[in-house]
Amino acid sequence: MPRSVKAPHSSVESANIRCADSLMAALVAAGVRHCVISSGARSAPLMLSASRNSALRIWAHPDERSAGFWALGIGKALRQPAALICTSGTAGANYYPAIIEAHYSRTPLIVVTADRPPRLRGRGAPQTIDQVGLYGRFPLTFRDLPVPFAADESPAAWYREAREAVRGILDRSDHRLLIVIGPCSIHDVDAAREYAKRLRTLADELQDSLLVVMRAYFEKPRTTIGWKGLINDPHLDDTFCVAQGLEIARSLLLDIATLGLPLSTEALDPITPQYMQDLIVWSAIGARTAESQTHREMASGLSSVIGFKNGTDGSLDVAINALESVASPHRFLGISPSGQVAVLHTRGNAHAHIVLRGGSDGPNYSIDHIEACETALNKIHQTANIMVDCSHANSNKDHNKQIEVARDIASQITSGNQSIIGLMIESNLSEGNQKLTEDLTALRYGVSVTDACIGWEQTESLLRELAELREVLLSRNG
Ligand code: PEP
Ligand code: MN
Repeated sequence: MPRSVKAPHSSVESANIRCADSLMAALVAAGVRHCVISSGARSAPLMLSASRNSALRIWAHPDERSAGFWALGIGKALRQPAALICTSGTAGANYYPAIIEAHYSRTPLIVVTADRPPRLRGRGAPQTIDQVGLYGRFPLTFRDLPVPFAADESPAAWYREAREAVRGILDRSDHRLLIVIGPCSIHDVDAAREYAKRLRTLADELQDSLLVVMRAYFEKPRTTIGWKGLINDPHLDDTFCVAQGLEIARSLLLDIATLGLPLSTEALDPITPQYMQDLIVWSAIGARTAESQTHREMASGLSSVIGFKNGTDGSLDVAINALESVASPHRFLGISPSGQVAVLHTRGNAHAHIVLRGGSDGPNYSIDHIEACETALNKIHQTANIMVDCSHANSNKDHNKQIEVARDIASQITSGNQSIIGLMIESNLSEGNQKLTEDLTALRYGVSVTDACIGWEQTESLLRELAELREVLLSRNG
């Protein structure tokens, strides 16, 4: 796994052309055979790709209005959509009459415009207009395609490797212990950035023994009521600026991913994964939702590895049943990447495991509990992969007890345990927790506003102690 995101050395131009090539291939696959082009500087990669795609016939029309009617004519004659290609801004507005005609005559037509990147939009530059919505209600749909990344700067590529590393632990091709660690919830992005920087340095130092993944929990399931996390209420004052919450959360994930630290979260809301999952390598389905069909269906389509918690009452069955469910393909109603209601088809998630977090009847990390869990997993023919959550009901919500739990697990591993693949630890810059009140100025920096966490010094020494398991881990399955 790369330790840092490399500086880009392939040009954005070539990324643009790669993306244009796949767009043209998709158009051809959808039945497009004719492209009508009105040239412009920004649309050069689109023109280049279209003209070298042998399945496409190219028509050049410098005037967009005529180009629009030419494409409409092709659509009418062949009953097959022609693609119109032009640069962005008001150039595309000249297609409008042809688009209205296409709408009323039910003639297929596709318009592809090359817009400015989002950071250069809405700045008052000449020839600028939002491309999305440009033709009002007449088109069936508008799509603003993602900005192309140069190959080496794509977080997706980096994240694929990080995910593979986590899967390697489940498959036993990687000897390391998976450590999912960080605040119970993130409420202050500056503190989270500082925590991430420290954790990144420590993770690098211990990388031969531990694969460290930071908790970036933005959605909090509440037993009754309370602050539901940064996405739901980013200003912590019941203003519920959800759209802003999503932006703040995503930009924090991007910053931490750019540091080179893999991330985890609790997948709680079934819509938010579309905004975040590309930057997540490990997701939890929490104790309150592990029994929910909606969450099992969602998890069956996530690309991250999934940990299912046992129920809050300590019930193991809920999580065992969830593992069977999530491994299967599902079909259900959801939101497509472009934001439309759609029937989603998932393939099933082959990388799910159980997380023991204790329950109302007490902790469940003892040797007997681990053995009972192994037996239950064997019964459903699943590899015995168990993560122990050192916090929650396993620590009786006393953050210092997390250290005892982690030490107990280390000694179980030293005594020959084969099934424990990782630990979850709630940790922050400073230990303990604090109440969230109306006076936000009273909040102490780096202290959790949800479950109590161990502080940074405790975190450092605990992870160093766990890293001493290296030899045991190396000889574990051999
Ligand atoms: C958490 O991880 O902070 C959490 C809410 O866990 P659980 O679902 O086990 O209560
Ligand atoms: Mn918690």
